[in-house]
Amino acid sequence: MFDTLSDRLTSVLTNLRGKGRLSEADIDATAREIRIALLEADVALPVVRGFIKGVKERAKGSEVSQALNPAQQVVKIVNEELVTILGGETRRLELAKNPPTVIMLAGLQGAGKTTLAGKLAKWLSGQGHTPMLVACDLQRPNAVNQLQVVGERAGVPVFAPEPGNGVGDPVQVSRDGIEEAKRAQHDMVIVDTAGRLGVDEEMMKQAADIRDAVTPDEILFVLDAMVGQDAVATAEAFRDGVGFSGVVLTKLDGDARGGAALSVREVTGQPIMFASSGEKLEDFDVFHPDRMANRILG
Ligand code: GDP
Repeated sequence: MFDTLSDRLTSVLTNLRGKGRLSEADIDATAREIRIALLEADVALPVVRGFIKGVKERAKGSEVSQALNPAQQVVKIVNEELVTILGGETRRLELAKNPPTVIMLAGLQGAGKTTLAGKLAKWLSGQGHTPMLVACDLQRPNAVNQLQVVGERAGVPVFAPEPGNGVGDPVQVSRDGIEEAKRAQHDMVIVDTAGRLGVDEEMMKQAADIRDAVTPDEILFVLDAMVGQDAVATAEAFRDGVGFSGVVLTKLDGDARGGAALSVREVTGQPIMFASSGEKLEDFDVFHPDRMANRILG
């Protein structure tokens, strides 16, 4: 992901090399090309506008005129502005004062929630936590089973409704799951919820009801970075319908343009906390804005 964006930005910035001083016209031309590169990568327009404004102001300010190597200074400015739109600092999970810490996952069907539940559980186990998974996606026929498989691979127990009890009530399952986690003294609970292929009111209501039942310490909005421009609208719908405290980008191993996902922090105001980049449980990491910016700038 981001290969095209990365190539474009790198070539724009390489063009500045060798210039002793940068004129305003040089900076304007560079800013124009960066703007095109960002827009072509699907970065949302308001985010692009803010980004370009920041780069221009700083590049035309004293920062560059006093610099020994203006081109390097511009690269530094672009890098720092990228880090800013990606959220600046890495945000850690909020832990509950009284365990268990409850993490609820929300997002569209296919975004990668169930897979992420396993990845997060495995990662948390590696950090010394004792997570439990709760299967509240009772919409998709195979979802409970899929979570059980993922839990087994991650070596983490899964709380799920008894088979044969009909569709069941996901809100009740979420409550029972938290009770079970308390009883068995798990210090973290990850609640998987149902998604639909598109945003719909019933799904939002169900997620909001589960939220009210389990009062999560974190609600992670799981976003498929491959979906392109729809990502921003989907994120806004979840922000308004359920609310969330952090974002997880999935499928960063894909070859889509990905810029819409890069806009999610600026558009929703919530930080990108984790990144998923493959189908294996190990393809997962904390999201570091600075590392992502460095990767994009090659
Ligand atoms: P859910 O409907 O939100 O629970 O999504 P799933 O966890 O079932 O994931 C949907 C599909 O995406 C599955 O085939 C996963 O194997 C795949 N998937 C999930 N995360 C990633 C990822 O980071 N990269 C890739 N390439 N595939 C992923």
